[in-house]
Amino acid sequence: MLRLAIQKSGRLSEDSLKLIRECGISFITSSLKLKTESTNFPLEILYLRDDDIPGYVADGVADIGIVGENVLVEEGMQHLAVEQLGFSKCRLSLAVPKGDPYEDISDLQGKNIATSYPNLLQSYLDEKGVQAHIHTISGSVEIAPSIGLADAICDIVSSGSTLISNGLREVERVFKSQAVLIANGGLNAEKQEILNKLLFRIHAVQRAQK
Ligand code: ATP
Ligand code: ZN
Repeated sequence: MLRLAIQKSGRLSEDSLKLIRECGISFITSSLKLKTESTNFPLEILYLRDDDIPGYVADGVADIGIVGENVLVEEGMQHLAVEQLGFSKCRLSLAVPKGDPYEDISDLQGKNIATSYPNLLQSYLDEKGVQAHIHTISGSVEIAPSIGLADAICDIVSSGSTLISNGLREVERVFKSQAVLIANGGLNAEKQEILNKLLFRIHAVQRAQK
């Protein structure tokens, strides 16, 4: 039996479940349950917070998982990645208040930037040779400039409408992300065999969608 960790409730949940179902794997879901077993494939599904998924897979509590590359790379767990899944596409971007005369990244030198992704932001700033003060906050990042907490933010964007409705302008793309399948590096032969079967089905689903 292979254990798969997916997000319990959020932007990855629905498409993660849909992919597993499209692979012909049946299971009964209930919003109250923390895990379910498939009725026709040796797979058990654990429902977790997305941020906890890479750690659980690295520790072997779950064998495989589905998570955003943004979270995976932020947590320094990119070595667990097996395959990009093509959904939950988004980007991590820097944004400033729309009246700000921002021209290029050097304008952020010495500024305060609020984000939930301090590591991804720090590597981007290092690459550009910019020193800024990073304030790590866990949510509602887009309101930070309007309450005087930061001069700029670095947050997840898909359409950009959340930025616009908070009076912000996207100025730099820091990281491009999509959902990725991850796996523990030390799976035994039996689990590896189940993972291979699952990957075979995922590839068939992906080919059918092209
Ligand atoms: P949790 O409660 O599990 O910690 P969360 O609030 O951290 O959830 P979500 O907002 O559900 O996370 O986002 C989960 C992942 O979905 C993100 O890490 C990112 O990879 C992706 N994502 C976030 N926002 C969008 C979006 N607007 N469009 C597409 N994908 C997104
Ligand atoms: Zn989360």
